[in-house]
Amino acid sequence: MKRREFWFIVGSQFLYGNEVLNTVEARAREMAEKLSESLPYPLIYKVTAKTSAEISETVKNANFDDNCCGIITWCHTFSPSKMWINGLASLQKPYCHLATQYNKEIPNEEIDMDFMNLNQAAHGDREHGFIAARLRIPRKVIAGHWQDKSVSDRLSSWMRTAVGASISRNLKVMRFGDNMREVAVTEGDKVEAQAKLGWQVNTWAVGDLVKEMELVSESEIDSLVSTYLESYDLATDNIGAVRYQAREEIAIKRMLDRESCLAFSNTFQDLYGMKQLPGLASQHLMSLGYGYGGEGDWKVAAMTAIMKAMGENGNGASAFMEDYTYHLADGERYSLGAHMLEVCPSLASDRPRIETHHLGIGMNKEDPARLVFEGKAGDAIVVSLVDMGGRLRLIVQDIVCVKPIMPMPNLPVARVMWEAMPDLERGVECWIIAGGAHHTVLSYDVSAEQMRDFASIMGIEFVHITKATTPEKLEDELFIKDLAWKLR
Ligand code: MN
Repeated sequence: MKRREFWFIVGSQFLYGNEVLNTVEARAREMAEKLSESLPYPLIYKVTAKTSAEISETVKNANFDDNCCGIITWCHTFSPSKMWINGLASLQKPYCHLATQYNKEIPNEEIDMDFMNLNQAAHGDREHGFIAARLRIPRKVIAGHWQDKSVSDRLSSWMRTAVGASISRNLKVMRFGDNMREVAVTEGDKVEAQAKLGWQVNTWAVGDLVKEMELVSESEIDSLVSTYLESYDLATDNIGAVRYQAREEIAIKRMLDRESCLAFSNTFQDLYGMKQLPGLASQHLMSLGYGYGGEGDWKVAAMTAIMKAMGENGNGASAFMEDYTYHLADGERYSLGAHMLEVCPSLASDRPRIETHHLGIGMNKEDPARLVFEGKAGDAIVVSLVDMGGRLRLIVQDIVCVKPIMPMPNLPVARVMWEAMPDLERGVECWIIAGGAHHTVLSYDVSAEQMRDFASIMGIEFVHITKATTPEKLEDELFIKDLAWKLR
């Protein structure tokens, strides 16, 4: 297992003498240690950098250290930033500039020129910020006192995003079968995706999975079925269908783990040799942190895995989702999201039920077992990655999930109901204008700010549809971005 960590690199120079440098180092160590107590990953003090050689050496080490998921810089004193050029120009890890200072307040009686020379982050961090701006290096800037909760919260979110970037750069996706025939938005340039995001997306035969399923023993199935019953209520007499899903899950998981894949896709159009489309199987795998995309949608499968890993709860409330149908009543307008089977139970508001129902779509010879539940209420986002030809666009929309306003007793799948920003109609218009897919990752855990930072780290386009977005403003924004991306 990797020990993920972040490196704290503090800028200074020789001008102030050793006493000041010793104070800077002692304080930087103290800050890293104390901050680490409220951060999800340790912040390791590395160096008080005074020369170009020291900075280049530290960045070189960060680039090649698999545990290091990013660097966090700060200038306690002034650090002439030309000494940072060579190091920053070779940086390959996510970069956050923490614009803070050691002391919280100006000490009225104590402040003199010595104090000023030691505590000059206010201009040191400006010099430091300039060089990243000048070099056009993507970085996150977080300003505030290091002991403020808002600062450590934002640093925590950024760290989780940087870990998401690390997972993305090592991600393998297993595809069973191709994309659903004729569908455009689930297509994409896998070479571009690997170059930009690191994803290795490759195909395995459905026949290989069927062979793997035949090797699963009855006692392994017994054991997984009892795991299901710990978390889910059994609401079907068709235990055979449940056992068949367990067989599918064990076989899929074995193949994923053997190839170190964290995400997979399949399609109902290619179930050769299988009796049921994996439903409960895919749902339970998602609850373990694996990404999934239906209809061969490897982009959404990969994003689901990454966002699950980025979320506050590790494999938390982020899930493959599909916009299905609208409720357009006056005064209450909602989207209803679901999928034909595969909604992750991390979204559930209460204990899911295992049910079996007929599934008309695809080549199912038997009724597939699936989990049925209602999604939680709360603020969330939906995320879609689309291939615009020559670049990838990450679209994020703010949404507010509600408890479904009706029971829908004959709907045989898990369901989530939400209001999209700025409102249903304008929200749909904005989503369609931006080219967002019907498949998304819905997340209660990961924020739009994190997705913006992710896009910045990976070097892809970012579009955010918020309460303040209008279709007109969005059209103008996309027109300008289209020009800008053609120039890059
Ligand atoms: Mn779908």
